[in-house]
Amino acid sequence: MNSNAAFREQYRQEHIGPRYSGRFHLAFVITFSLGGIALCIWQLDAVRPLEWLTLPLAFLYANLVEYAGHRWVMHRKVPGLGLIYRRHAGQHHRFFTDQSMALEGWRDCKVVLFPAVLMVFFFGAFAVPLGLLLAWLTTANVAWLFVIVALGYYLNYELLHLAYHLPEDSRLADLPLLKRLRRLHYLHHDPKLMASKNFNITYPIGDWLFKTRA
Ligand SMILES: [Zn+2]
Ligand SMILES: [Zn+2]
Repeated sequence: MNSNAAFREQYRQEHIGPRYSGRFHLAFVITFSLGGIALCIWQLDAVRPLEWLTLPLAFLYANLVEYAGHRWVMHRKVPGLGLIYRRHAGQHHRFFTDQSMALEGWRDCKVVLFPAVLMVFFFGAFAVPLGLLLAWLTTANVAWLFVIVALGYYLNYELLHLAYHLPEDSRLADLPLLKRLRRLHYLHHDPKLMASKNFNITYPIGDWLFKTRA
């Protein structure tokens, strides 16, 4: 057994409990995000043209947060955030290398998707306070639009990342845009490049700005 296969076995034994279900985990991510988006859309009230600008601006902001979080928190030991570093650099990158990128079953979703608790925590700790601040500084519509983008971006991140780790022969892997993004993530999983290249998981805007695209 090579070292990657041995790590996978050890990880599954230590971290994936018998009651874990990858399908349920994915269903939770989708339901939480789409349910939240629906609730926010329902709150919008006669959005003015300038308020719609929140959508592209929040998208850009989310892309840079994704970039910065991945580059400076997931690949560097930051005091107090060591758990995120260990989970990503120590586990995700050892489970998946450029030589073995594919999941081997639904239960391996555990190594790709954010844990549900962490997701609810981040949403409560960052998106909600920032939304409240925006509502206070600007308008309620701006705040709802911001939360819509935050949830949509998060869902897009999880689905794309999961798609990159599907087996090579899956039909999704042939979609042109997905093929290009997937290639960038493959390169990021090369142990020699992981701490220096391709930090965007979704669209490489941050990598383009900071010149870290491989
Ligand atoms: Zn990955
Ligand atoms: Zn990484």
